[in-house]
Amino acid sequence: MESWGLATKGSLLTGPSSVLNVLSTSHQQLEWLIREQPTYLQCYPSVVRELALLSIRESFSLAKLRRVLTFGEVLEDSTREICRVAWGVEMFDAYSAHEVGNIAGECGSGAGYHIHAEHLLVEILDHNGDECRAGQVGRVVITDLQNYAMPLIRYEIGDYAEVGGQCSCGRNLPMLRRILGRQRNMFVLPNGEKLWPAFEADAMSAFEKRLPIRQFQVVQKSHQLVEVRLVADSPLSTEEETAIRVIVTQRIGRDIEVQLLYVDSISRSPTGKFEDFRSDISEGVVAGSSSTAVDEPDAR
Ligand SMILES: [Zn+2]
Repeated sequence: MESWGLATKGSLLTGPSSVLNVLSTSHQQLEWLIREQPTYLQCYPSVVRELALLSIRESFSLAKLRRVLTFGEVLEDSTREICRVAWGVEMFDAYSAHEVGNIAGECGSGAGYHIHAEHLLVEILDHNGDECRAGQVGRVVITDLQNYAMPLIRYEIGDYAEVGGQCSCGRNLPMLRRILGRQRNMFVLPNGEKLWPAFEADAMSAFEKRLPIRQFQVVQKSHQLVEVRLVADSPLSTEEETAIRVIVTQRIGRDIEVQLLYVDSISRSPTGKFEDFRSDISEGVVAGSSSTAVDEPDAR
């Protein structure tokens, strides 16, 4: 394409762009990147992570690359670090959703995400419906100020986020410190309460360094059972399998059965996103809440 597409067309001059289907394999993606030698790369954080790890393993560099822009999934600090090691560049993340478009963009100051308050009213609410203060985590509720065709008023989008403080950059737009993800990525306790499992890449990257694991996904199957799906270069020893069970149990913080399942690959969602933790029982719980968006293919 001659430009970066509809989002920037007519408003600023860009260079050309190329697009590859995210469902292509990591090797196909890396070969394409080496051919294209892009200045900017935009894709899901999990795709960047796989490509950067592959680049490190196979000693490929992208000499012209200046920035990696991500959206659509939670961006972990360990993915930023892997990106620095692989390509020597920083990542910038954007928070968006199909229903309302761009919600917030990451600030170069490192303080979090500035909300696009010019066109959205974004509220972060606690379980009582009261507004959260800086440092508190709550539900993301959005009112779209410019969608006259289909107004969304106090629309609960299904994500959780932490309210940020004042940013040192000088912009006065309100801030989100971090975006935590969607309700269905929460671990569901027997009493219906939910907690954030620390299965994100940060927590498990130590595994990947020590063990021959290419990819993993933790799935809550019931209140008593979680399944760890592993894509491994070679079978793990009994000690290694035990180590995984111990870490998974620690992350959940309670006694739970952990089953390991070796698979050839872990598929992405229909929109190409990857979830390192998923609860198969939370969707039923969430479907009974006020939000109708949560069963849509991942909006974020
Ligand atoms: Zn800022």
